[in-house]
Order: sequence, then C-alpha cells, then structure tokens
Amino acid sequence: MHRILIIDDSKLIAHLAKNILSKRGHEVLLAGDGKTGLDIAKDNKPDLILLDLILPGIDGYEVCRRIKNNSTTADIPIIMLTSKAEHADKVQGLEMGASDYVTKPFDEGELIARVNTHLRIKVLHESLQEKNRQLFEMANRDGLTGLYNHRYFQETLFNDFQRAIRYKESLSCIMFDIDHFKKFNDTYGHQTGDVILKALGKLIEKLMRRSDLAARYGGEEFALILYHTTINNAVITAERLRKSIEKHKFKSEDLILNVTISMGVASYYHPDIQDAKTLIECADKALYKAKKEGRNKVVAF
Ligand SMILES: [Mg+2]
Repeated sequence: MHRILIIDDSKLIAHLAKNILSKRGHEVLLAGDGKTGLDIAKDNKPDLILLDLILPGIDGYEVCRRIKNNSTTADIPIIMLTSKAEHADKVQGLEMGASDYVTKPFDEGELIARVNTHLRIKVLHESLQEKNRQLFEMANRDGLTGLYNHRYFQETLFNDFQRAIRYKESLSCIMFDIDHFKKFNDTYGHQTGDVILKALGKLIEKLMRRSDLAARYGGEEFALILYHTTINNAVITAERLRKSIEKHKFKSEDLILNVTISMGVASYYHPDIQDAKTLIECADKALYKAKKEGRNKVVAF
C-alpha cells in the first residue's frame, strides 16, 4: 500500500482516480487547489502525486516547481493529469521535474500501470540511496572493530579543531594502545589478538558518550575525540576507561584474558597546540610517556 495525493479541482476526476487507486489498496489524499496540495505534500509525504495542471490560484506548474525545489518533497514522483490539447504543457511539466503524464479522460488500466511504474522506481531509488548511505558509512569504519577508521578520524578532528578555535570551545584528544600487544599476539596468536581488538572496540563504544568519537588509529592504537571537554575532564574520562578495560574479562574460546592500556591526553586550549596535527602529536607524546612510566596509566600533555 502506498499513499497517493491527488491535486485536482475537478471533483469528478479526483473521485474517479481515488476510486481506482483505493480499490488497489492505496491510501488516497485529495486536494482541490495548489496551496492545499503543497501543504498536504509537505505534511504527509505521499509516495506519489497526481497533479492537474489547470488549478485555481497556484497552477500545476508552480506546484510542481515548488515540490521539486523543496528537499523534503523533491523525491516524490509527480504524474501530470493533462487534457489532449495540452501537448506543449506536457513538455513544460516534464521539464519542471514531473515524471510522467496521463491524458484525461484516463483509462483505468493506463492510470494504474503508470502509477505502479513510478512507485516501483521510487522504491528502487530509495533502496539505492540506503545502499549508498551504508557504503558511505562502511568507507568510514574500521572493518574489524566497527569504530571509525584512521582517515575519518583525521578529517573529523581537522574540522572539529577549526570549529573549536572559531567558537572558543575546548576539545580533547586521547590516544591509547594496548600494553604489550605484540607479546600477546606472539603468545596466543593473531586470531586471539583480533578477538581482543574487536571486543575492545565494542567496550569503548559502550563506555563513551554518544556525542564523542572513537576510532581505531591503526594496529592496537586507538584515538578518541571528546567534545566540549577540558584536559581535566578528559583525564577523568580516560582514567574511567582505563579502569573499566583493566577489569574487563576478554573471552576468546576457552581463554579469559585481561588487557591493560596506556593513554595520552591532550586538549585545546593549550598554548603549544594550534592545530589538529599538533593535538594528535601531543596526545601521542603523552602516550609515549605513559609507556615509559610503566604502562597501564593515563598521562596528560
Ligand atoms: Mg483543473
């Protein structure tokens, strides 16, 4: 079942079309003039519109133009209802974005066939858009952990840093990695290593605020962006994450394993940090210090 809007000032035509479409199980909305039609289109998001060209007030061309120029209604297919004499009008309507036309008085079979064709195209178009959205999302994600990937993290932080400067907002970056991960891989194998990375990704996602961003930076290295967060609060967050991960029991087949992480925190505003690249470098330096000072700890730059 689809929702179809008929915009026609002729009650006879409108009800004829309504009967034909209702019989096929469609929900039909009626508008007797252009203004009402535009309002219903915006509020009810029909799947298709049958549009008469000669209307009182705003005419069919203008209705078509406005529907196609509004991003919330632009994807709704429009079938014009025209009379035989209006050949040039059909062309004009098609140029304005209408998908098709049906000549009045219309044949029931033809009306149904055209409506079905354009409903089918709309469904295909929507599923294509959804697939594109999924592809776009996948391109930004790390395949193993499901967190954002290195490239997306860099791009996002670059933009976020510009915004932080402009609006004088605090912005924190945390870099961390798993302690002795290499030794871990050597002992239990890479497959177990991957199980840990994957579980760690899930755990981080669960522990972080939804508004913040978590990425796999590479190998066993992770990076976080914390918005509107000063260095002190970022350290508190880091410490909370570190403790949760230390306590977590990672399961891989029969093994129950514990891991610890070392973390470096850097924040804007800081006199030495004036761009995103430096913010990452400073968080990395702090991470290096955490490693040198014995691991399983948080160090602020
Ligand atoms: Mg009319």
